[in-house]
Amino acid sequence: MLLAVSVQCVCAEQASVQGTRVWTDPEKTRLVFETSSAITHRIFPLDEPDRLVIDLDDATMQSNLPKVDLGDPVLVGLRGGVRGGSHLRIVLDLKQPVRAKSFALSPNERYGHRLIIDLTPKDGSSVRRVALPSFPNSGVRNGGGRPGRGPAVIVAIDAGHGGEDPGAIGTAGTLEKDVTLAIARELAKLIDREPGLDALMIRDGDYYVGLRERIAIAREGRADLFVSIHADAFSNAKAKGSSVYTLSYGGASSEAAKWLASRENSADLIGGVDLSTNDDLLATVLMDMTQNATIEHSTEAATMVLANLGRLGAVHRGDVQRGGFAVLKAPDVPSILVETAFISNPEEEKRLRDRGHQRELAEAILAGVLGYFRKYPPHGMLVDASPQGGGGGGGAREYVIGPGDTLSGIAKQHSVSISALRARNGLNDDMIRVGQVLAIPEDS
Ligand SMILES: [Zn+2]
Repeated sequence: MLLAVSVQCVCAEQASVQGTRVWTDPEKTRLVFETSSAITHRIFPLDEPDRLVIDLDDATMQSNLPKVDLGDPVLVGLRGGVRGGSHLRIVLDLKQPVRAKSFALSPNERYGHRLIIDLTPKDGSSVRRVALPSFPNSGVRNGGGRPGRGPAVIVAIDAGHGGEDPGAIGTAGTLEKDVTLAIARELAKLIDREPGLDALMIRDGDYYVGLRERIAIAREGRADLFVSIHADAFSNAKAKGSSVYTLSYGGASSEAAKWLASRENSADLIGGVDLSTNDDLLATVLMDMTQNATIEHSTEAATMVLANLGRLGAVHRGDVQRGGFAVLKAPDVPSILVETAFISNPEEEKRLRDRGHQRELAEAILAGVLGYFRKYPPHGMLVDASPQGGGGGGGAREYVIGPGDTLSGIAKQHSVSISALRARNGLNDDMIRVGQVLAIPEDS
């Protein structure tokens, strides 16, 4: 719900501010005022020095104003005082002029009334992409990768929840958003260590990113796989184990309709397939094909991740589960959602907090991801289909490097010597990268 800058409310009683929080994310700084009831507010800027004034009518302060992180791009600090007897004035000291947007949120199961104020630099300097690693020239599929490295396979890692949204809460007070971020960071570390693989963190801090926004970041980053990390909760504290989800076909087809409805989103879907055609039937068929292929790939990735999690500990359900999760709805990026364990199970909650266990979970997910890429090398290239040692036929044989491949392994697989393989491809050393195509020489 979006409200105008000045909002009238018919509250006779004085409202009180019961809590204030500040969240800094790469795009904006978000202030959240928790209030006892809906509140009337006005916002206006002052300059020299830059400030933003927030006037809250008929309100009292019943909490302390929070300290602001030194690294916040726009905010220096908050101060407040009573004005005219029964009004509150909160002044934000700023590092630079800002654009401010405010809106009220009605109570939900977690929170009461909230007034949200989002601040972004007026000069637009803090665009999200600045905070993302690895994409100096995003938009060109093989133009990414870290400097000095070849084209990389991108794994988007989505730490569930964040900021205002804590996710599930364990009996010992563990917040799902903290656990998911810790595991996501471990996974990113492992992925960045793999030759040819790059991690793209959907969020890398304690702030909330909208579900559609998460998909958008993954697609902008040209992700080859999207892995959303969560921790389960259930009323029965005994429920335990990992589960892995993909999008259900039903969720996919209703989503197809939605994407088609907004053609500006459709045009760049899947390289070469222009969905902005006027032929709705054709567009629908293309979209369905794309999504069905995506779900097949997702299922493959999910199966491999689940198998590896099973080696680590209990699985909640032995099969890949399907659900209508919004965050899995990218039509063209294979996407899986991993419920690492039950945070509502005290035993598993304890393990989820453990650094060593977080790392083991990340390793299991990585093993599944590598297995998936070995089966489906990205970049749309086809792996040589001829059986190893089959040779013959005189046709040129090619091999597309997948994650985890080594030159010696490829040589062995194709019954050729490493030196012959090097010579045929003009390689000076054993360095290879994912996506690279090697010509396989005839048996020597
Ligand atoms: Zn969750």
